[in-house]
Amino acid sequence: MTECYIFIIGGGPAGSIAAVKLAKAGYAVELVEKVKFPRFVIGESLLPRCNELLEEAGMLEAVESAGFQFKGGVAFENEQNDIKIVHFEQNMGQKHNSSFQVRREIFDKLLLDEAEKSGAHIVMES
Ligand SMILES: Cc1cc2nc3c(=O)[nH]c(=O)nc-3n(C[C@H](O)[C@H](O)[C@H](O)COP(=O)(O)OP(=O)(O)OC[C@H]3O[C@@H](n4cnc5c(N)ncnc54)[C@H](O)[C@@H]3O)c2cc1C
Repeated sequence: MTECYIFIIGGGPAGSIAAVKLAKAGYAVELVEKVKFPRFVIGESLLPRCNELLEEAGMLEAVESAGFQFKGGVAFENEQNDIKIVHFEQNMGQKHNSSFQVRREIFDKLLLDEAEKSGAHIVMES
């Protein structure tokens, strides 16, 4: 193991974003991930607020360039089949009016690659 100031356990979105921000702030970051990526994980529908977090970490451009499905809102259906559509552009106070529907194995790998590019040292199960 290399010497580091920050040791992050887990290479999911939280770990990757933390690694990028800390590496960019000048810390020596080591991130360990117990599963070899790309790996399946549940959860794929992002909300506009996620874009703010990605933008703050300087990772939004990479996500926008990846070609994920555009998501401009959500539809809810109850047991009576009433459908309520929420358009993100009818703003709820967020900075961005859209988001993405992603495949998590691709999305999480992309974020982890960004962490590595930012200078974090990634150790993964081989
Ligand atoms: C049914 C369901 C549906 C969901 N739908 C959505 C959705 O539509 N949109 C959305 O944004 N979120 C959704 N979520 C939530 C989303 O999946 C999680 O919030 C998100 O993955 C959390 O990210 P994370 O980085 O904190 O953790 P994770 O993505 O869980 O990453 C943690 C990582 O740590 C690694 N790890 C764990 N223990 C160790 C260890 N000891 N050593 C090394 N590595 C370790 C794991 O292998 C994993 O890769 C959903 C969740 C569920 C359960």
